[in-house]
Amino acid sequence: MKVTEHIEKAKGKTLFSFELLPPLKGKSIHHIYEGIDPLMEFNPSFINVTYHREEYIYKKRANGLLEKISIRKRPGTVGICAAIKSKYQVDTIPHLICGGFTKEETENALIDLSFLGIDNVLALRGDPIKSETHFVPEDGGHAHAVDLVKQIKDLNNGKFLYEEVNQDMNTDFCIGVAGYPEKHFEAPNMKTDLKYLKQKIDNGADYIVTQLFYDNQKYFDFVERCRAEGINVPIIPGLKPLTSKRQLTFIPKFFHVNLPDELVDEIEKCKSDEEVKQVGIEWGIKQSKELIQKGAPCIHYYTMGKSSAVKEIARAVF
Ligand code: FAD
Repeated sequence: MKVTEHIEKAKGKTLFSFELLPPLKGKSIHHIYEGIDPLMEFNPSFINVTYHREEYIYKKRANGLLEKISIRKRPGTVGICAAIKSKYQVDTIPHLICGGFTKEETENALIDLSFLGIDNVLALRGDPIKSETHFVPEDGGHAHAVDLVKQIKDLNNGKFLYEEVNQDMNTDFCIGVAGYPEKHFEAPNMKTDLKYLKQKIDNGADYIVTQLFYDNQKYFDFVERCRAEGINVPIIPGLKPLTSKRQLTFIPKFFHVNLPDELVDEIEKCKSDEEVKQVGIEWGIKQSKELIQKGAPCIHYYTMGKSSAVKEIARAVF
């Protein structure tokens, strides 16, 4: 079932969903199941699986020269989505990115997903790879998420890349896109970022999932500005409970979000990561309760491979 259908069916009740990372290459799928099992009692409406593109490493050869090697550390997004869907009978949402994909590879991935009965995708641009200062699209690939949205929408309408395809099928994907309550880090200002967000919706995206945030007011303001710009699709807030002191610097650096003074003060007082986790859980419960009270369509939790903090929050609010 599509995300928008889940939301409609819930008739105003806030849904629960979460996101997982594929395990590192070499690790078994049981690592994924260990992350899912504790959360199934809260009836997730859907589970997202992130996509991780290639990275480059340099390997020293016997002759002393360095060889540049492309590796994907966390492959398996599509396979994991199919495996979870079959094992738990829950809708899964693969993330699909522009980075590293030609349009033809994207088309083939969409056909795979459609054959697997997966009818949701989250369409993203992807970040620049570590060796690049800015995002560089693949030759023959997409530069922005909006172009990916257009391609998916075209396929939903039975329009393949090449007219030579003897076509008797079309896909039927519900398309999610990313939104940034604190602005995407490359956007010059919120107005420009919202202009491009609206383009994604106008070209066929059905809903928005937000970047994580720790100050609900940022989400409420974002929703208000989106509505003022004529963006009327569901806007699903994304939350990630803090679980370690290291995240005080990692989260702002990696996700370009601000941590409220009160939260930072509380975490700085903690003597161990166990204490930080408790603060993170309490903060997540407070955020979730307010989001539910104000009618958020769904709360989407970023587990980043660790589900115990999300479980505590879900137990308190769902
Ligand atoms: P876009 O919508 O293309 O926007 C990127 C930037 O370009 C913005 O500053 C925007 O204002 C600007 N822009 C957009 N359209 C245009 C245009 N037509 N012309 C000029 N400028 C434009 N990354 C992964 O690699 N894998 C994942 O699984 C993944 N999952 C994510 C899930 C969520 C919910 C979120 C919020 C992010 C996720 N990301 C993931 C990170 C995401 O790929 C990055 O944030 C990336 O930098 C931007 O992606 P986007 O889809 O928002 O890009």
